[in-house]
Amino acid sequence: MAIIAMRAATSATEAIKADGINIEVQQTGHLVAIALLGNAVTRVEDAVRRRVPFVIDATNTDDGTALMPWTHQLHEEPVVKKAKEILRRAHEGSGSTEALDEIELDFKAQRVVSQVQEHIVRHGLHVYTQKWLFDSGRTLDERFELLRAMTHPTVGPHSASTAIASGQMPPLPAHSVPEFVRMLDTSWTGVTFQVTNRNLRDWITLGKPYLIEFPAPNIEAGKASRTDRISKTAASERIELGLGFFLVEVDKTFDQFRVVTPMLFNGRTEQEPEGAPYAKNYILKSYSRHHVKAYKQLTDLLRSPGRTKVSRLQICTKCGAIFSDDRSDLAHATCTS
Ligand SMILES: [Zn+2]
Repeated sequence: MAIIAMRAATSATEAIKADGINIEVQQTGHLVAIALLGNAVTRVEDAVRRRVPFVIDATNTDDGTALMPWTHQLHEEPVVKKAKEILRRAHEGSGSTEALDEIELDFKAQRVVSQVQEHIVRHGLHVYTQKWLFDSGRTLDERFELLRAMTHPTVGPHSASTAIASGQMPPLPAHSVPEFVRMLDTSWTGVTFQVTNRNLRDWITLGKPYLIEFPAPNIEAGKASRTDRISKTAASERIELGLGFFLVEVDKTFDQFRVVTPMLFNGRTEQEPEGAPYAKNYILKSYSRHHVKAYKQLTDLLRSPGRTKVSRLQICTKCGAIFSDDRSDLAHATCTS
C-alpha cells in the first residue's frame, strides 16, 4: 500500500531536485504522507505501520456529477513545517559554515510542498476510505482518529467519512461489510425493483448475487460503492456514502450483469441540525456486452477474483438470514427458527 504512495514521492523528488533542492525520496515520502493524513503521522513509516490503504486512481476527478469516490483535502501547514525541518537538517549536514537564511528556507519549503501536492494530484493518490472505515480489524476509535486527522483544520470535513468521524453527521448504523450485508432488508429502497415488483430481499433470494468487497479503483461497476462525498451549501450539508461493496447477479437469460450498490445518504439543514436517520437506498445498474469495459471486468472478476473478496450470498429459507458459505464472517451457523 505504502509503495503506491512512494510513486508520487519518487516523481516529486525528481521535480524538486530538478529545481535545485536536494532531498531524498524517503523524506519526500514523509511529506506525501503528512499532506494526506495530517498530524496523524510524522513519517511515512507511520502510515506503513498503520496499514493505511493508499490507492492510485488517476481518473478520480470531480466532474460535478454525484457518486464521486474519495477526495482529498491536502494539508499544508504540517507539511511546510516538516519540509523546513528536512531542509534545515540538510543544511547542517552539508558542513556549510554559512548561516541559514530563514526567508530562503521558507521559500524553498514552499516550493517543495507545492511539488509534493502537485504530484499527489497528478498520480491520483488517495486513501481508500471505505477500506479504512469498515475495517473491523481495528477499533472504531482508531478508524475515526485517522479520519479526523485527515480533516483540514480550517476547511473542515471534505468527505462523508470525515464528516461522520468528526461527529458532524449521525453515527452509522453499522461499521463493517458483513454487518451491512446482514442489514439488507426491505427497508432499502431503489426505483427499478419497485417497477418489477421485487424488493431487495426477493432479488437476493432469487438471484443469489455475488458480494464484491472493496473493488479496486479501476472496476467501473464499483464506482458507487466507493462514493465518499459531501456537498455543502450555506444552509445545508449532504453526504453520500458507498459501503465498500456491491452485489452482482449473473443474468444468463439476458446475458448481462445486474449490479446493486447499497448506499447511505444523510443531510444536515437548519431545520435538522443534528441530521436525520440515514436514508438507505440502493442503486441498480445493468451491464450488457454493450458496456464493453464494465462487462469484461465483471466477467474477469468472477472468473479469477485475485485479491478481491468475492463470495456468493444466499438467504436462509427458514429464518431469512442473509449468509454466505464462502466467508466465515457471513456464515450461518445456527438457525433461529
Ligand atoms: Zn436460518
